[in-house]
Amino acid sequence: MIVIKSKNELAQMRAAGLIVAQALDALRGQVKPGVSTAELDQFIHGFVTKRKAYPTFKGYRGFPASICASINNEVVHGIPNKKRILQEGDIISIDVGATLNGFVGDSAMTYPVGKISAGAQRLIQVTEGALWAAISQSRAGRYLEDISAAVQDYAEARGYSIVREYVGHGVGRTMHEEPQIPNYRQGKRGPLLKPGMTLAIEPMINEGKWETRVLRDKWTVVTKDGRLSAHFEHTVAITEGEPEILTRLDS
Ligand code: MG
Ligand code: MG
Repeated sequence: MIVIKSKNELAQMRAAGLIVAQALDALRGQVKPGVSTAELDQFIHGFVTKRKAYPTFKGYRGFPASICASINNEVVHGIPNKKRILQEGDIISIDVGATLNGFVGDSAMTYPVGKISAGAQRLIQVTEGALWAAISQSRAGRYLEDISAAVQDYAEARGYSIVREYVGHGVGRTMHEEPQIPNYRQGKRGPLLKPGMTLAIEPMINEGKWETRVLRDKWTVVTKDGRLSAHFEHTVAITEGEPEILTRLDS
C-alpha cells in the first residue's frame, strides 16, 4: 500500500527534508583531499543530531554509520572509515537520512574531490540531470513508469548504464515504503501518482556496464567492471501542481 500523507504529515516531512538538504549543502565545504570518510560521517552526525533529528541510517539493519560514503567505483552503501582518505580527482557519493518527529528525509549527491577528470564531471552532470528528468515526471496523473522511463532515457541516450539491483522507494514514517522506484522501465505503467505520495527518487548511473557486486563487508556496492558510478537522490512530494522537492534548499 502506498501511504498518502496529510497536510500535517507533509509539513513534518518538509522539516526532516530540510535538515538533510542543509546537511548535504554544508558537507560541500568538508569534501576535500586529505579528509577521511569517517570525518565526513562525524560531521553529518553532529549536524543532524544538533537539530534534534536522528541520522536514519545509523543502526538500520545494522549499518554502523550516519552516512553512506561511496568513492569512485563504489555505487552506494559505502561504510565510512578513518582509513579511507579522499584524493584529488576522486568522486564521492554521500547519502544522508534524517528522522525528525517520526518522519524521514532521504537525499544523496555525488561531489567532486578537488579537480576531477572531464569524464567524471560528465558522469556527475548526467546523473543529476537524470534525477531532474525524473522529478519533472513526478506529477499527479502520471504513472510510476514515467519516472523510471525518464531516468533510463536520459542516461542511456548519453551513453551511460543504469544500476538495476537498487532502486528508489516511497518514504515517510519509515525510510522504505512502497512503491519501489526502479530507474529503468518495467514494461507496465505501475501505480498512478497521486497528491500526498512522497517518493525518494534516486538514479544510480554507471560509466561502464550496469552490473554491480557487494564487497565482503556485506554493504559496499561496487561496479563489477571497476568503472565510476554516481548517485543523486531527492525526496519528492506529489502535489496537485508542481512536484515539491522536500530535500532541497529553498533558494
Ligand atoms: Mg538515500
Ligand atoms: Mg533512498
